[in-house]
Amino acid sequence: METTRLGKTDLHVSRIGFGGIPIQRLTEGGAIEVVRRCIDLGVTFIDTANGYTTSEERIGKAIAGRREEVVIATKTGARDKAGALRHLELSLERLQTDYIDLWQFHGVSTFEAYDQVLGPDGAMEAAQEALRAGKVRHVGITSHSMDVALKAASAGRFETIQFPFNFVTNEPANELLPLTREHDLGFIAMKPFAGGMLGNANLAVKYLLQFEGVVPDPGIEAVEEIEEIVDIVSGPWEMSQREREEMERIREELGTRFCRRCQYCLPCAQGVEIPTVMNIRSFWKRFPPERFGGGGIAAAVDSARECIECGECEEKCPYHLPIIEMLAEAVVFYDSVVT
Ligand code: SF4
Ligand code: SF4
Repeated sequence: METTRLGKTDLHVSRIGFGGIPIQRLTEGGAIEVVRRCIDLGVTFIDTANGYTTSEERIGKAIAGRREEVVIATKTGARDKAGALRHLELSLERLQTDYIDLWQFHGVSTFEAYDQVLGPDGAMEAAQEALRAGKVRHVGITSHSMDVALKAASAGRFETIQFPFNFVTNEPANELLPLTREHDLGFIAMKPFAGGMLGNANLAVKYLLQFEGVVPDPGIEAVEEIEEIVDIVSGPWEMSQREREEMERIREELGTRFCRRCQYCLPCAQGVEIPTVMNIRSFWKRFPPERFGGGGIAAAVDSARECIECGECEEKCPYHLPIIEMLAEAVVFYDSVVT
């Protein structure tokens, strides 16, 4: 498969990566089979996270004996040094390796979190220690907030940015992507299929391949999925007029009711976890069903039941989403799938 340079990391990775969220839903054997098939087909960029339950461990088993064939990217959601170092040791153990190629600060979507990561005793200090020890080779950041991502892109502290980018959430093409190129940062396109909302792999992949140096990392849970994607990556990549029109049609259909998880609508005085609830359908497609019966997702849905329809969130949403209506729909959906 064609490779591309991941910005100033100087790592050369496959033109398409592997996102490690959905393999949590599989049996361990099934997950290992999917990862190995990806590698066999030339996928060399494997992205996971400390927070994705079994994902790291399964990837570790799949790459045993093949470590040098792949570039491993994982993430820590800890903002403090001690917590991040604990996560790193866990990641190394689960992935059965003594180094992480790319270690990313996970989901840094508020300036508060950003300042914690870079502040005294923050996670960046853990990264610097790990870099010196050779446990980490490169450091990146992931975010859902455009403002945070723009700041991170020019901060000179990160080598890559991972941000949602697909033909519906296409805002990165305007400012963020050019800025990352200016600062020679690698760009990893999170959610290239919009978290499972874009069913047309051909359009989703071809759209992103138009942007040189961007590495989409779709979540893969079936051998057939990666085979289809690799076939698309084999080219030709040019989009026909008909494909462009189809993309436009889907964009119009979804664009007005699609939450980017940017968090600009927060905080809600009632404590409603708006972005989580708005993305319930996407989580349902990607995470194991047992994550839905209790814990964080159930609590988020319960928070939405407290919405008093004040409308403040809708005024703050830059995409003018009908949040109140969408929250109500999400609660109905949740109640229909979780018994
Ligand atoms: S509802 Fe709007 S403001 Fe809130 S996270 Fe989604 S896109 Fe962002
Ligand atoms: S409309 Fe509901 S979710 Fe939005 S700010 Fe008001 S209470 Fe919170």
